[in-house]
Amino acid sequence: MSKKDYKPSSISGAIEDLLLYIIDNNITEIVPKFSFQLGFYYSEAMRTSAKFKVSEEELLDRLVKESYATKELYDKYVRCPVCKSYRLLVQFKCPHCGSTNVNKVTLVSHVPCGYIGVLEEMKTSNEKRVCPKCEKELGKRDKDWIRIGSLYKCNECGELFEMPSVQFKCVNCGKIFDYKDAEYENIYKYKINLEKIRKLTKQIVIRTIINVLKEDGITVEVNPTLQGLSGLKHTASLLAKCDGREILIDILSEDEIDDIMSIYGKIIDLGHPDHLILVPSDTAQSLTVDETVLKIVKYNKVSDVAQLVREKIISKKEKT
Ligand SMILES: [Zn+2]
Ligand SMILES: [Zn+2]
Ligand SMILES: [Zn+2]
Repeated sequence: MSKKDYKPSSISGAIEDLLLYIIDNNITEIVPKFSFQLGFYYSEAMRTSAKFKVSEEELLDRLVKESYATKELYDKYVRCPVCKSYRLLVQFKCPHCGSTNVNKVTLVSHVPCGYIGVLEEMKTSNEKRVCPKCEKELGKRDKDWIRIGSLYKCNECGELFEMPSVQFKCVNCGKIFDYKDAEYENIYKYKINLEKIRKLTKQIVIRTIINVLKEDGITVEVNPTLQGLSGLKHTASLLAKCDGREILIDILSEDEIDDIMSIYGKIIDLGHPDHLILVPSDTAQSLTVDETVLKIVKYNKVSDVAQLVREKIISKKEKT
């Protein structure tokens, strides 16, 4: 058997690969994942993207364009305006002098004397905090003193403020920026129209087979009509022509398996020497047909079908 790998390069080949993967794995949604190396990425699209050397974005946009998926907002994140990286460090800044040397402090009120001030700045005596106004011990929380809230204090200019300014530092390129220069990017997820894709499974499988066989220089006719011994005309899924041989291919999906008897009749009437019948593995078990008449090829995944067909045809080709 030929060991030549199937390496197509077209976007349509990539889309078909992704669609078959979606069917085989019952994918209903493609959501982004995040890593510091890659940023946001879509693992389902990534394997096809690497295999066919097309970008994930191009693949997913194509899914949307052909109504196989809808694009929805997943979330929004800040990224570097220079290098577009999401690897950012976040810093707080004093809104008055711009220093990043700020501390979070607790504002408290001493109930007996009414003093309001910063808890962390009170002096201690015998490890107990002392009120700077009445110079007595602060006492018990929620009885002698109450917490008013958190504030920030600038260690440079001494200013107290409720909300610090935020600045970002890009780990990747070192750029320091704030909300004015930040890029606030939309990150999308993709809802898969699995029902539509399922309905097209057979067409997708057929297109994949055509692409795979084309790589080996084998021409394929879709839905060929052939005349049987009885004079009746029959249609098959595909007719592959390879070195003067003709291989007839019928692909049965799960819901077509009930038709096996009519296929059986068709095969006998056609009497074609090379007639491959592709059947899903899990339904193939229930078949009670003469396998010496029916050349049944079982498949587990729709994504395997094209390679199975190729192997059957190539092995025949090499035997001759
Ligand atoms: Zn950057
Ligand atoms: Zn300051
Ligand atoms: Zn006091």
